[in-house]
Amino acid sequence: MTTAVVAAVYNRRIFDAHRAPLQRIAERSGAQPQHLAKKVGERSPAQIRRALLAWFRASARALPWRGSGDPYAVWVSEIMLQQTQVATVIPYYQRFMAAFPSVTCLAQASLERVLELWSGLGYYRRARYLHQAAQVIAQEHAGEIPEDYDGIRGLPGIGDYTAKAVLSIAFNQPYAALDGNVARVVARLGRLQGNLHQPRFRLAVEAVLAQMLSHKAPGNFNQALMELGQTVCLPRGPRCPVCPLAKWCAGSRGGNPEAYPLPRPRRAAESHHLAVALLRRGNKVAMVRGLTDGLLNDLWNFPSTFGRSSAKALGNLREKLAALLGNDPKVRTRHDVPLQSKPAAEFRHNITFRAIQGRIYPATLSRIPRSPSLHWFDLSKLPQAAISQLARKVVQKVEDGIATPKSKQKG
Ligand code: SF4
Repeated sequence: MTTAVVAAVYNRRIFDAHRAPLQRIAERSGAQPQHLAKKVGERSPAQIRRALLAWFRASARALPWRGSGDPYAVWVSEIMLQQTQVATVIPYYQRFMAAFPSVTCLAQASLERVLELWSGLGYYRRARYLHQAAQVIAQEHAGEIPEDYDGIRGLPGIGDYTAKAVLSIAFNQPYAALDGNVARVVARLGRLQGNLHQPRFRLAVEAVLAQMLSHKAPGNFNQALMELGQTVCLPRGPRCPVCPLAKWCAGSRGGNPEAYPLPRPRRAAESHHLAVALLRRGNKVAMVRGLTDGLLNDLWNFPSTFGRSSAKALGNLREKLAALLGNDPKVRTRHDVPLQSKPAAEFRHNITFRAIQGRIYPATLSRIPRSPSLHWFDLSKLPQAAISQLARKVVQKVEDGIATPKSKQKG
């Protein structure tokens, strides 16, 4: 057997191993893959596949992680792209890869440095897991990313989607990677009702993908569907007239493709007041790890507290500062922290379902107090530190010019 034939047989075995349970579940739920595939197109899924791959060859964007074949590059890009737009990811990806060009480099780096380079990209748990996974790969896999599903899926922060995306794109293994963009395209093609949080819908989409997947070029197939979802089959205003799949698309033919898939139920936004202390001593400002209430725990933030009202948030902030400065003999009560009682600036910020109304209360200190919880950063160096997006907004307000009160403490 030639190498190509061996690879094809190997790929077919992997595919069959994962298709069998899917088919069994599909049959139990009444969602027969063949029927679903038929729903997607009146013609063979092979024609859809060919049209999709031809479009991708002609239209694929030149992205920095494409074409290298480097599993590490594919993995980093897939993690960064979760919940994040391609245009936002590109500069972060380039800086990250320049700093950590290999799994080994990433494994040897400090978490602090990784977070610095991730700062501003959001969803920081991704960075922590990426770092942990690199250490596992370095220690347990001799620095090589595992090439089997169970091996890669067992790494910190790698879910089903990422495992299949890396295996298909980097190792040409026949896995269909299902993310929100792919689900949208498939749902519209076949007018499939539901959303990815509903097992029956997920199963139906997976069954369609199993029929459509290219075994010769699974990586390109997955990237093509993702790209189509990102650039043509947009959540609002799909560009059906230029879509390579338009002639097979039931959603487009029905005249209302935006009705598919159903929107995911969202948690209602909650309004929160946040009081933020801007403690300054010369060019230095005080920062703490985490924001408050367990949020943004990996990042540096200005000391802050929530409250039901702005007054409650400020009261809570005074308590927090008194506790943080508890080791300092000059701070005996919460009133010993010379916080300005009126906010010097306000801002708004969203963290998942929290709509935060922030108020910044400055205090100029005459000396740096003793507190193991406070870390003093040079204001000019803060933008390069591992600080949260919320803290960046505060820094921006400072750069815009916040009036700070005169020092009240001596010594
Ligand atoms: S024809 Fe329109 S709705 Fe259908 S897949 Fe293409 S862009 Fe999406």
